[in-house]
Amino acid sequence: MKDLIVRNCNLGNDDQTCIYIKKGFIQDIDPKIPELGCPEINANNNFVSSPFIDSHFHMDATLSYGLPRVNESGTLLEGIKLWGELKPSLTKDAIKQRALDLCKWSIARGTLFIRSHVDVSGDSLLAVEALLEIKEEMKDYIDLQLVAFPQDGVLRSNCLENLKKSLDMGVDVVGGIPHFERTMADGAESIKILCELAEKRGLLVDMHCDESDDPLSRHIETLTYHTNRLGMHGRVAGSHLTSMHSMDNYYFSKLIGLMVEAEMNIVPNPLINITIQGKHDAYPKRRGMTRVPEQIKAGLNVAFGHDCVLDPWYPLGSHDMLEVAHMALHVAHLTGQNEMKSCFDSVTSTSAKVLHLDKYGLKKGCNGDLVILQCNNKIEALRLKPTRLFVIKKGNIISSAEPTEYQLKFNEKLETTDLIFRN
Ligand SMILES: [Zn+2]
Repeated sequence: MKDLIVRNCNLGNDDQTCIYIKKGFIQDIDPKIPELGCPEINANNNFVSSPFIDSHFHMDATLSYGLPRVNESGTLLEGIKLWGELKPSLTKDAIKQRALDLCKWSIARGTLFIRSHVDVSGDSLLAVEALLEIKEEMKDYIDLQLVAFPQDGVLRSNCLENLKKSLDMGVDVVGGIPHFERTMADGAESIKILCELAEKRGLLVDMHCDESDDPLSRHIETLTYHTNRLGMHGRVAGSHLTSMHSMDNYYFSKLIGLMVEAEMNIVPNPLINITIQGKHDAYPKRRGMTRVPEQIKAGLNVAFGHDCVLDPWYPLGSHDMLEVAHMALHVAHLTGQNEMKSCFDSVTSTSAKVLHLDKYGLKKGCNGDLVILQCNNKIEALRLKPTRLFVIKKGNIISSAEPTEYQLKFNEKLETTDLIFRN
């Protein structure tokens, strides 16, 4: 909660302005803020954005890649099996240490809000305890929102009581995984139980939903139905929704209207969807990501998640949400100017709506949280995934880096480039 003036900010329109943060909140945005005796930094006309938000992550599994072995097939099901092999040997300290290491990467990348699912389907709630402690210990640097996630199926693994207990302990959101229940009917029943539980407790819902290539996996229809029935409009997110990629077009045309009616939030995970889906296909191989352009066009709130970093499901990643948006842009053919900008928004402003964040944004009265990127605008940010020069949380500088500059040598003559497109 500090005072700070950031001068020469480029908010994406090339007009330079200043941002004055007072006691952790944005007090003023104006090109003519006088010296006020508080610390100042110079953004040097680099692009200033609100921090990145990861709408879908698994912090209890992160950085466990190779434990006890790697996922050779790369499928969702082998990943779940592998996680099951690792779970009995997990300790609270090990989960916390890995989560803490990940948080440091996130901060360096300017990702200051994370919705993390946490597995509640084992015998213990070790991961819940660990992540609740991390949430508290890191609250001045990064905001965690936790989802009670029954990885092995709330009915299939009989863990409803554990899930409720995790909510009593302070987990924020109700999760689910209907496509992993034993039958479609059980999947539908699990959605009903979990939505009613969330409605009763006044909580948000975020379900892993239809993460499959099966065009007949239609749990999103049931999730939409209960969202409408229970009056939970805008409070429910469908994560993944990869089966929508493969759905019949006529059925999709009916479904999308119902989803709009329910104000359903959509959380695709481009890096994971593109690598996990389509594994059973011969050529041509499906790409597996849900129908993002059509969902945006219909007016649905679409936010991207990273989902995994170095865990049983994904062997790469450094928790850079620009990498996520960059992948989405390519997979969904979102190359128009406004389409590219919407990809940037899907890891910032629309994610804030999914998480129901308060005081997020670069406006007077909002939290004094921002990221200064070594580029000119949203599209350049996607192209370069540039150096995060400063990461600021409530007026505190919590990460900084020198600008990247490459030294070139031609016939003993030195030149430099920073890869910025100036036309
Ligand atoms: Zn997930």
